[in-house]
Amino acid sequence: TKGSVGFLGLGVMGREMARNLAAAGFGVKAYDVVPAAIDAMAETGVTPAASIADAAADADIVISMLPDTPQVEEVVRGDGGLLSSPPRGGLYVDMSTIAPEATRKLAADLLQAGVQMLDAPVSGGPVGARDATLTIMAGGEAAAFERARPFLQGMGSTINHVGASGAGQTVKLCNQLICGINLQAICEAFALGRACDIDLVQMREVLMGGSANSWMLENLGAAMIEGDISAGFRIDLMMKDLRLVLGAAQQNLVPLPATSLVTSQYIDAQAHGEGANGNQALFRVYDRMSGR
Ligand code: NAD
Repeated sequence: TKGSVGFLGLGVMGREMARNLAAAGFGVKAYDVVPAAIDAMAETGVTPAASIADAAADADIVISMLPDTPQVEEVVRGDGGLLSSPPRGGLYVDMSTIAPEATRKLAADLLQAGVQMLDAPVSGGPVGARDATLTIMAGGEAAAFERARPFLQGMGSTINHVGASGAGQTVKLCNQLICGINLQAICEAFALGRACDIDLVQMREVLMGGSANSWMLENLGAAMIEGDISAGFRIDLMMKDLRLVLGAAQQNLVPLPATSLVTSQYIDAQAHGEGANGNQALFRVYDRMSGR
């Protein structure tokens, strides 16, 4: 094989990324706390691992795709985690979206154990993960980035080193800020169009041809109109990202009024039990506000 990967986290995104790495000729040994998630990889050429340490032991690189900061902390600092069982190749790339501050601390502590860490969160959703066309934004040492690049190329098509440790997460948070406000803008346009008896299916297609087009309109707009709320990217995960955005804003004394407003609407969605639904379910906040 071209190189060996220990892969941690086989959820909506991770299972596709691990499969693509195996398809690209890398040896992939993968672990998830949910055994069924490992079993589901059976036909993909990915080898099951019994633990984090088992996935990491012979790996040139360990890659993780986990929900949030606490899970990344756990796989690094927990029993049998990467600090006590470092990958043979001394390279760890976390591709989850987590707090930039926590990332910097993890990178510093891992360095003490001889492991270089990159934060390399992604954009492009499950479709980008499936097609290996993710946009990857990496923070950390340039030399570590160069070592990781061939592996990243197995999962993404737009791959950039954006700065020191934590910078990848910061760029990703800026990405999420745009996605959230963009989604809110689409909800508002659909709420107004609907109330004025416009055919939303046609309206979406028309708008996609003009300057209001966006990834969100293309990828979530149709599901929003059809009332298909399956995830995709869960409301809970976006809420996690918006909380990280507002945390960074507060720390750096940057007012983000539009982000604050859309975050309130995500809280509304969560409070109405929509956390496990896809982000297009934000439209249901507008359904309720307009009595639909
Ligand atoms: P997910 O919840 O579907 O997958 C996470 C996986 O990690 C699950 O299978 C879970 O069992 C596993 N896991 C949790 N704790 C673990 C541990 N301690 N050890 C091993 N495995 C563990 O989430 P997802 O949608 O794949 O997203 C993963 C990350 O990528 C998140 O940070 C998310 O914000 C980000 N992201 C998601 C999307 C998207 O569209 N879904 C897009 C870009 C970025």
